[in-house]
Amino acid sequence: MSLVNGNEIFAEARKGHYAVGAFNTNNLEWTRAILGAAQEKNTPVLIQTSMGAAKYMGGYELCLNLVQQTMKSMNITVPVIMHLDHGNYEAAKECIEVGYNSVMFDGHDLPFAENLEKTKEIVKLAHAKGMSVEAEVGSIGGEEDGIIGEGELADVEEAKQIAATGVDYLACGIGNIHGQYPENWKGLNFDRLKELADVISTPLVLHGGSGIPKEQIQKAISMGVAKVNVNTECQMAFAAATRKYIEEGHDQNDIKGYDPRKLLAPGTKAIKDTVESRIEWFGTPAVK
Ligand SMILES: [Zn+2]
Repeated sequence: MSLVNGNEIFAEARKGHYAVGAFNTNNLEWTRAILGAAQEKNTPVLIQTSMGAAKYMGGYELCLNLVQQTMKSMNITVPVIMHLDHGNYEAAKECIEVGYNSVMFDGHDLPFAENLEKTKEIVKLAHAKGMSVEAEVGSIGGEEDGIIGEGELADVEEAKQIAATGVDYLACGIGNIHGQYPENWKGLNFDRLKELADVISTPLVLHGGSGIPKEQIQKAISMGVAKVNVNTECQMAFAAATRKYIEEGHDQNDIKGYDPRKLLAPGTKAIKDTVESRIEWFGTPAVK
């Protein structure tokens, strides 16, 4: 199976009251772990790069090639969507040019009229090439790639207007936060989610999926969320497993324990386990 566009997968997910996970990659190990987990569970998956991760890895074209070649070498047969996470206008255009399957244009920090206009433009460019588009209304709390969001709730009227541009999925702020959740976090705002889902048939996206309790995620999915983004949780799992390996002295005491292929293996396995567990949470059905 080669890379596919997201639109049908997510429309089906919303109708079927399940979600498809979107996992951020940072390098070869991350890519192998995410693809391996999806193949193991026999489910579609979305692998995404933030602008920062793509810059770190050497650009969007390299990221796309990395995913394509890894799929080939691992004999991946499940549908995989290559997606740009939180792109600005230039990044979205570049990924459409390079050949991603799907892009998020995040114009939440622009004046609303400009967000709407630019979303329309990106939809036009992407749809001309059969690619999917995600847009964002109402900022998602926390920090991502230097953009700080306060976690405001998406305005229903604005969300309706953005949905009407023909975006394939829509990220709405409903009290969710990027990164780790603070002790005093109030939880997801299901009243606002219901108001949004009642008037918007576009599949909705839940960002900041790391650290939201399973019950809240599943409730949000039952109400119209069809894509859940997970990033921090994989980073924490990778860090904890790598720390354990080093603290247990494997890098110094085992034969060639310092070999990066050995050193990075526990962390890679931890990412794969995290992705598999989230696929189960999201209820993504196996590919027939
Ligand atoms: Zn996000």
